[in-house]
Amino acid sequence: MDLSLRRLLLVVLVFTICGEVAAQPADSVIAGYQPAVDKIIASAREENDAYLKLQELCDDIGNRLSGSESLERAIEWAVQSLKADGHENVRSEKVMVRKWVRGNESCEMISPRPCKLNMLGLGGSVATPKDGITAEVIVVKDKDELDALPDEQIKGKIVVFDVPMPPYSEQDGSGYGRVVQYRGNGAKWASERGAVAALVRSVTAYSLDSPHTGAMRYSGGPEIKKIPTAAISVEGASLLHRLQNRGKTPVVKLYMEAEDQGEVPSANVLAEIVGSEKPEEIVVIGGHIDSWDVGQGAQDDGCGCVVAMEALNMIRKLGLQPKRTIRVVLWTNEENGIAGARSYAVRHQDEVHVAGIESDSGGFKPQGLSIDLQDDDKEQLAAAQLSEILTLLEPVGATRVTTGFSGVDVGQLKPTGTACMGLSVDGRLYFNSHHSWADTVDKVNPKELTECAITVAASAFVLADMSGKLGEE
Ligand SMILES: [Zn+2]
Repeated sequence: MDLSLRRLLLVVLVFTICGEVAAQPADSVIAGYQPAVDKIIASAREENDAYLKLQELCDDIGNRLSGSESLERAIEWAVQSLKADGHENVRSEKVMVRKWVRGNESCEMISPRPCKLNMLGLGGSVATPKDGITAEVIVVKDKDELDALPDEQIKGKIVVFDVPMPPYSEQDGSGYGRVVQYRGNGAKWASERGAVAALVRSVTAYSLDSPHTGAMRYSGGPEIKKIPTAAISVEGASLLHRLQNRGKTPVVKLYMEAEDQGEVPSANVLAEIVGSEKPEEIVVIGGHIDSWDVGQGAQDDGCGCVVAMEALNMIRKLGLQPKRTIRVVLWTNEENGIAGARSYAVRHQDEVHVAGIESDSGGFKPQGLSIDLQDDDKEQLAAAQLSEILTLLEPVGATRVTTGFSGVDVGQLKPTGTACMGLSVDGRLYFNSHHSWADTVDKVNPKELTECAITVAASAFVLADMSGKLGEE
């Protein structure tokens, strides 16, 4: 089919869905799912185990960095929990992941006065020498300012990137994406100019002197020396910046024992409701079972895991069996490698994944789904079809469809044509505790978590049962 004809069909179809056209087959077919969706909503609001599962994962096991014993316990817990819920084909699939261990670490300002700086080493960083690194700091407000400095002002110093994350706004969202590059690349940029270490202002718009960790990379070739790098709090970065602005040159001592211990085995966890008519066609729902090694990994991404687990449970408890298979996948190693999702995509490349929904933005009040397809025309069509499906979720308020993004893990299925989706939630508070000691169960509202699981359960059920596929006419 040529492009113009497809465009024309697309316009006709979108008009049919959005316009005031009475009793279109597409409308009535989707509307026919309202009783099933209402049942899911009513029974889940009456009773569900999402919050209980979250407590078992986060309070009993705790945080779960790749390669840690606690992650292995979490994987075992998930397998047992999914079996106890009576699902089919519950299993773990081995994945090799990198094991990075933080060890002891500290950061303090030595001059102009002694002052502890709250810090967290960045995942993937090398250690400092045994005695730490003590050096003058040079604070920059962004990469341009670093680029404009002469080498002699950077060489031998600790570069501090004091780049503020903008506050959340309805229009632009969190601003995380605009600033997180400094966490990922700051050490490389500083090392290229001869610095001995890099400190990065934590990627958050709100702070109570809490450092926020995350992954970094030493890309750029073997000629660049690997220098240690850590996140300091907003307050710490601001202090150093203010002192520099008044003509002082703070001296900081950084100490880190961080170590890459090579590859170790981990696993993805899978469970299914097998489809009644097309069991070989799969709708994936999931989150990532690993977390950073601080806090409890509650919002990131304990919520995503229990949302997928409990969504499958909600469907099973009602005896709803869709035509296609719904498969929970709890990916390992999202935070510092994405090895779980990459391994899943390769291992299951011969299967038909018609759609996938990832939940990795926290368990806040759901707003709808974001959708991302390899083919732009198909994405537009799929978004229109998804809007129709999400009208079923008006009682939850999760009717909004956005395009162009899904999630890091489910996104690995995008090249094969899968309609990849991400659960959108009210993102105002997510980055306040993200990747910090404060990402704990108390930040999760059980009612909102329930609504997230309802949204995923209802969407997955319709996608698995409807006659066509998203993005197909
Ligand atoms: Zn996450």
